Amino acid sequence: MKKSNQEETRQHNSRLVLNMIYHSAEISRVEIARRSGLTRTTVSQIVAEFIDSGLVIETGQAPSQGGKPATLLQVDENSRMLVGIDLAESQFCGALVNLRGEIVERFCLPSETVNSEEAISRVYRLIEKLLELTKRPVIGIGVGVPGLMDPSSGIVRQAVNLNWRELPLGKLLQERFQRPIYLANDCQVSALGEYTFGSATGDQNLILIKAGRGVGAGIVSNGQLFHGENAGAGEIGHIKIEPNGEICRCGNRGCLETIASTRALIQNAPVTIDTFEDLLQAYHVGNPKVVAMVEYAAQALSETVKHLVSILNIQQIRLAGNLSHFGNQVLEIIRSNLQSGVLPALAESTRVDMAILGDDIVILGAASLVLKNELGLL
Ligand SMILES: [Zn+2]
Repeated sequence: MKKSNQEETRQHNSRLVLNMIYHSAEISRVEIARRSGLTRTTVSQIVAEFIDSGLVIETGQAPSQGGKPATLLQVDENSRMLVGIDLAESQFCGALVNLRGEIVERFCLPSETVNSEEAISRVYRLIEKLLELTKRPVIGIGVGVPGLMDPSSGIVRQAVNLNWRELPLGKLLQERFQRPIYLANDCQVSALGEYTFGSATGDQNLILIKAGRGVGAGIVSNGQLFHGENAGAGEIGHIKIEPNGEICRCGNRGCLETIASTRALIQNAPVTIDTFEDLLQAYHVGNPKVVAMVEYAAQALSETVKHLVSILNIQQIRLAGNLSHFGNQVLEIIRSNLQSGVLPALAESTRVDMAILGDDIVILGAASLVLKNELGLL
């Protein structure tokens, strides 16, 4: 019993020190001891282990303040690699990501028109290919899955687009790759990624809304992902917007996804188009019917954002996914609907912006899941 307490304390101290080094441009052992309250001996022991393993490097001397100059430390961001996988869009993409969230190598495979078995073997191939691309240690594999996930068991409850039901994907990947595997819903990993690599505001809370092939929200509360009881927190895509609207893939009618998902926008487009890129072009040249449709989708989305803000009072809202490609007008619609549809004191302090991570958000989010769980970095 005593030993496990000691082990816990040791891990806690190690993670504390690593976080301090990670979040400082450069820092000395003395400064770490001063800020953390740990003894200099403890700090030196922990730092020595990190240097031995290559995770931390000495970068030079701090300007002397009279005594012996202190050596400065940095995390070697390329000493370990993270694998991040995005299964959410029309192709499977993955990347090797360094500890700062920079993509080092990427690889994609087509995923459309494959059956559920073939989809699993493509995920294997994608990961195998990425692992072949590096000689550096890979500390884990993170996967953003479109659909309902149980992150603790790694079971995909339901991923409609991939035709997966009750699939033990975590176990399958663990057996095949013998490395730590982390899975979560694609919107939830996106929120964690934006929080970890794209948020410099110091806020502890963030809502990330992703409107692409599916529509959903990820919620970071007090620096932690909020999953909900069945890991379904943020499933805003199936909130009913139009009582007599179109039938949704969930079986209900008039869901937000029947209006604002990529597929809905293409299907409902008042002009003949084949791809999302065509639609984007029609919007940007100002086709009035297309503009009206996109604005309607943004209105519909903002209906759900009002509820999120009112219930959670989270001030930092970021938008990602295909809908964000239409640009500032979409943001303006959400902002003005918040102004008129939420308690003014709440609306005033809420900021709605584009996600900083762009189209790599699920890959980087999946990588941040590994970073958080394996190294305790936040
Ligand atoms: Zn639905």
